[in-house]
Amino acid sequence: MIYRTQWFNTVHIAGGGKLLGVLEKSDTGHQEGHRQKGKMMQHSLWHCSISMIFIIPLIMLPFTTDASEKLVEDLFQYIDAHQDDFVQELKDWIAIPSDSSDPQLREELIRMVEVTAQRIKTLGATVQQVDMGFETLHGGQKIKFPPAILAALGNDPTKATVCFYGHVDVQPAKKEDGWKTDPYTLTEVNGNLYGRGATDNKGPVLAWINAIETYISLKKDIPVNLKFIIEGVEETGSPGLEELIKEHKEFFSDVDYVVISDNVWLSRKPALTYGTRGNAYFFVEVESGKKDLHSGTFGGIIHEAMRDLVYLLANLVDSTGRILIPGIYDDVPPVTEEEQKLYENIDFDIEEHKNNTEVNSFLYSTKEEILQHMWRYPSLSIHGIEGGFAGTGTKTVIPSKVIGKFSIRQAPNMQIPVVEEQVKKYLEEVFAKLNSPNKLKVSLEIGAMPWVANVNDPQYEAAKIAIRKVFGVMPDMIRDGSTIPLARIFQDLTKKKVMMLPIGGADDGEHSQNEKLSRSNYIQGTKVFAVFFSELPKLHEDSLTKSNQKKPKISQLIGS
Ligand SMILES: [Zn+2]
Repeated sequence: MIYRTQWFNTVHIAGGGKLLGVLEKSDTGHQEGHRQKGKMMQHSLWHCSISMIFIIPLIMLPFTTDASEKLVEDLFQYIDAHQDDFVQELKDWIAIPSDSSDPQLREELIRMVEVTAQRIKTLGATVQQVDMGFETLHGGQKIKFPPAILAALGNDPTKATVCFYGHVDVQPAKKEDGWKTDPYTLTEVNGNLYGRGATDNKGPVLAWINAIETYISLKKDIPVNLKFIIEGVEETGSPGLEELIKEHKEFFSDVDYVVISDNVWLSRKPALTYGTRGNAYFFVEVESGKKDLHSGTFGGIIHEAMRDLVYLLANLVDSTGRILIPGIYDDVPPVTEEEQKLYENIDFDIEEHKNNTEVNSFLYSTKEEILQHMWRYPSLSIHGIEGGFAGTGTKTVIPSKVIGKFSIRQAPNMQIPVVEEQVKKYLEEVFAKLNSPNKLKVSLEIGAMPWVANVNDPQYEAAKIAIRKVFGVMPDMIRDGSTIPLARIFQDLTKKKVMMLPIGGADDGEHSQNEKLSRSNYIQGTKVFAVFFSELPKLHEDSLTKSNQKKPKISQLIGS
């Protein structure tokens, strides 16, 4: 789910353009963010007590009808009673080292996909394993990609159809990297289930399966049609995923909602994620000549490339964090009253965050400002200069060519081609003021689109109710300041409503050593999914009526 390897993909831009995009699950910023969140949580013992805290209000919650109350009770009872089985199965899955980055482990990865496919079959689903072709390794050798799974369970045209996205590959893990336990032996310590893939993403995939199995075992009608898209190469950038979605349009044609459960909460509180920022990464190159020169011999008589570049970089953003590129904020939507309200109850401690970040102060002082500038406003970061002297000591070189690197995290509605034009035009204007004879080149290296969902869509409303029924609290409505292209890809390619519904805790340590999912989050997460299935139909119906779109589905028209 996160972001160690940088990976590239083709991102389609609204309006028809096509840009090289990084699907950056992998950037230092994001890792940092997660590490900080992780640290933030380390001292807390909440996992052991969370179920106790939340069970009490749960008992007191009024449910809408006796029938639904009884259903929820039965679901919870079954899930609680079978939690050891669920943990055992997670243990079996964790034992398969399905590291998609290691060609040596490709057979294990393929076996993991096979195990998953067979497991989904036991639910009674029709399962298709789609061949994803071959991966070309650096040496030119070709190895098979693991197949992707497309599965369907139920095709009642009167029901809503939910498609779950998940992945069963994992990041690399070795005991000697600093794991306290063997990464491929799920080990329970103080209520936490440690193992590579526990939270990212085997635990959530199994929680979804457990939730379905609960209905089947209890001989209850599953209130929604279910589909699965499960891949085995998410951690290496989901190569082929977009093509897979495009080539299986009919598979998605009757899907109403796509649910992704591949990220984590912000704090100790459950959360729903409704937005991610995009990213536009630029190189700005200044070249003064063909060779590096000595400052003793040539200093004072030449136009130095580094001086021009530093001037350009210094003019990108001011000391308050405001981006100086004209027009850059034009497409950023204003904060509505409704959106502002979402921030009020979010569990976020500025002091704690400051301590974990190890900085003296932030650019903003209120929780709302900080979260909004992390999530829903663009930001510009300068990352480095290639070609300049960066070693220790005192080399007196004048570099002939230097490349500054910066990126803009984009807010929803900002369009990459527009940003690209604004950046290039601005830097050329600033450069022109220098009257420099040097050569300037500005290029967009990566363009990945932001994503935002409507938090009032039925799938969000149903998830909010499910979380309230399981945890006794309303979820924090959060965004992610990083770029997680999956949701946007599904939204653009399938035109369906997408939701990110995390069940992992903020301290789960995805991609790092000692990754874990707490038993509580795993089991309560299973309950959330189960209740989500039962809450969605009513809200789905209401939304159809409201939007006056109650048309028969294609499957009805063709008489399925
Ligand atoms: Zn993941």
